[in-house]
Amino acid sequence: MMEIKGKKISVIGAVRSGVGAAKLAKNLGAIPFVSDSSPREKLVPWISKLEAEGISYECGCHSEYVFDCDFIVTSPGVPTDSEILTEASKRKIKIISEVEFASWFCKGKIISITGTNGKTTTTSLMAHSLNECGIKTYAAGNIGCAFSEITRTVKEDQFVALETSSFQLDFIDKFKPFISTILNITPDHLDRYDNSFEKYIASKIKVTDNQNENDFFLFNADDENSFSTMKNARVQKLSFSLKKEVPAGAYSRNGKMFFSWFGKTEEVASVNDLFIKGDHNVANALAVLAVAKTLNLPNRKIRESFKSFKGVEHRIEFVRELNGVEYVNDSKATNVDSVIVALKSFNKPIYLILGGKDKGNNYDAIRDLVEKHVKKIYAIGVSAQKVKNYFQEIVDTEIKDTLEGCVNAAHKEAEPGTVLLLSPACASFDMFTDFEHRGRVFKQAVNNLK
Ligand code: ADP
Repeated sequence: MMEIKGKKISVIGAVRSGVGAAKLAKNLGAIPFVSDSSPREKLVPWISKLEAEGISYECGCHSEYVFDCDFIVTSPGVPTDSEILTEASKRKIKIISEVEFASWFCKGKIISITGTNGKTTTTSLMAHSLNECGIKTYAAGNIGCAFSEITRTVKEDQFVALETSSFQLDFIDKFKPFISTILNITPDHLDRYDNSFEKYIASKIKVTDNQNENDFFLFNADDENSFSTMKNARVQKLSFSLKKEVPAGAYSRNGKMFFSWFGKTEEVASVNDLFIKGDHNVANALAVLAVAKTLNLPNRKIRESFKSFKGVEHRIEFVRELNGVEYVNDSKATNVDSVIVALKSFNKPIYLILGGKDKGNNYDAIRDLVEKHVKKIYAIGVSAQKVKNYFQEIVDTEIKDTLEGCVNAAHKEAEPGTVLLLSPACASFDMFTDFEHRGRVFKQAVNNLK
């Protein structure tokens, strides 16, 4: 346990993680100061928590006061190259991430989950499966519960499934997971690493820096980036694969999921045990299976947990079936890559809702899939016309003013045995507060159908 009594700690970011870190610091006798450049209106619920705790803060800017501290704790949403962190580094102030800070006070074991896609789903399934198998596991990180909020509650024989963003890994020091996982790495923030893929991967592999021969590193054997620069030779390595047998870890073959441990292989579950759909989710489940088996948990319980996990809200989330039509909410699909995954997850014709605030989408990547799987597109939001212009020659495409309009139209038009899928490939800010809001409006409209 680190002693921080009397230390002055500046916390960057006044949302969930920042507020959690500040409260933890205060409870441990330190003197936190929270600074957020967003305007007060955006932070109201969080600021009231700080005020209730008597924690000092500023919003709307970062002032000189930030630098008057023993060290800085930064929140997951703050980019590594933000002005405030760059200035703090110049002044040689120690910067640590919120997960690093919280980990100083955690007695339990950490399972860190990082990667470009699938973190939230895998973190949730990990916690669900381990809990179902009788091991108390908290889900924390960028997933609705800050690590700082629960760290002191976790007992020695308990676990934390921790969704860890790459910005958080840039500022670790002693952070030491018992099991670290990298689900996949695609080069989406390359600009922050001088456009060097090696540097970008190195920043992810930092998660193993403090691990030793008693710890595990789990990587995706189908994704060469995720292990190409494995530098910590001491850690025990496990992998998972959808395509091939692995020497230690989990893989799938002919609809079955196996665990192998240096020559010994056993069948643990079937892909059909999984309620959540799509190959990407089989990969996520294999990662969980590898961890569960490493912890010696029973196959039957693992299978049951795969059946009872209903997925995470807004990620290919089953809403309802009505007149033989399945209604599915994938509001989290804010880019074209996520739509690829969604379109591949169904083997029936799809009515697809596309559009919103476009971040410079190129639809070529889904053109063939749309041609093959999609029966009709409903286009919404500021990019509706762009969607229509691109797709109308390959599939019936109609512009709708509202999400409710799409749902009502599909209710009339979609035949039994089809899916209405909201997987918009765009951000939501043109019509909604965020993707969660968009997903809730969709579900409301679906649930209102008679
Ligand atoms: P993250 O927390 O990393 O953003 P989520 O679990 O919230 O990941 O999933 C985000 C989107 O990424 C989902 O809509 C889903 O379609 C897609 N996705 C989930 N798991 C994977 C995976 N293993 N590989 C590729 N895409 C995935």
